[in-house]
Amino acid sequence: MKKIPPFDLTEQYQVIGKEINASVAEVLASGHYIGGSHVEAFEQQFASYVGTTQCIACNSGTDALYLALRALNIGPGDEVITTPFTFVATAETISAVGAKPVFVDIDRQTFNLDLEQVEASITKGTRAILPVHLFGLPVNMSRLMAIAQAHHLFVIEDCAQATGAEWAGQKVGSIGHIGCFSFYPTKNLGACGDGGAVTTNDAAIAARIRRLRDHGRKGSYYYEELGVNSRLDAIQAAILQIKLRHLETWNNQRRAIAERYQQLLSPIPDITTPQEIPNGKSVWNQYTIRVLDRTPETDLSSRDRLRSQLQEKGVISMVYYPLPLHLQPAYSHLKYQPGNLPEAEQASREVLSLPMFPELSPEQQNQVVYSLKDCLL
Ligand SMILES: *Cc1c(COP(=O)(O)O)cnc(C)c1O
Repeated sequence: MKKIPPFDLTEQYQVIGKEINASVAEVLASGHYIGGSHVEAFEQQFASYVGTTQCIACNSGTDALYLALRALNIGPGDEVITTPFTFVATAETISAVGAKPVFVDIDRQTFNLDLEQVEASITKGTRAILPVHLFGLPVNMSRLMAIAQAHHLFVIEDCAQATGAEWAGQKVGSIGHIGCFSFYPTKNLGACGDGGAVTTNDAAIAARIRRLRDHGRKGSYYYEELGVNSRLDAIQAAILQIKLRHLETWNNQRRAIAERYQQLLSPIPDITTPQEIPNGKSVWNQYTIRVLDRTPETDLSSRDRLRSQLQEKGVISMVYYPLPLHLQPAYSHLKYQPGNLPEAEQASREVLSLPMFPELSPEQQNQVVYSLKDCLL
């Protein structure tokens, strides 16, 4: 049987490749490769898609987070509350501006920040909350914004995995003070290389981020503060404009695949399927199940065994994330111990992300499910 990869970008290129090639050729012929009309047009289209007045394109999702933190003057002595169950960039950027990430445990059902514990972790040093809409599922933003307002905190949404997701009918990235997006190729809206964007309704924050992404420049060769080089290439902006037109269709295809997985997988014992929450519309960047752990803590987890059995059958699954950030060697100076954030730690032992991309066919999906049943029943 043919292998089923966790994601596959080749089929998408089969469909829109001609259009992409033509627009890349146009940029190449124009002689304008950085900034310019393609970048400005994409920024406007993306702001209008997300539902904000401002969008600033940059070089990556990581840079989007860094620029957002810088623009809010978050730095040494400040604490930012975030989740340990995320890609490293979420916390890495908090550290990069000199602030301290404060890790709060996750909710078992959603894998997102446990908002009860967020409120309990606020101190005099807390400046911001940095929620991640993990795997495409939005955080309860009504509750989170109420907590932030009560304590005068900024909210920076990490939307890297959630382009197009909605909380109560509003797109993520338009609800907090700042939204940060990644256009890494496997994200819901992916470039053909690195890319990212910041969204906000605050014109002053937007103006500052525009300067910071271009070395802090104000006017020509005049600097009131130092920034970074984090511009989006014109080629990527041209490609993203084309792909943005397909995003709703692709996200709907992901939804249909998730519904089908749910129907086919729910009867299987020892597996918990991911669920949406009331008001929370997921865009399913990942379809992540839990595999009940039946082995002692010191052994290979039941999940790890299942993962290698699936691989033998040609089904390639992924583990996001095998070690939560509070236990990473890079954060040993924060002195967290195993057991401090038990839900994140248990999730790390149980999660398994199944193949998920808009072009995944019913036949491929059946093979994933048959293989899983073969291993577990
Ligand atoms: C991908 C990702 C990022 C970083 O985006 P890059 O474009 O790869 O820099 C940040 N946060 C989360 C949750 C991500 O998944």
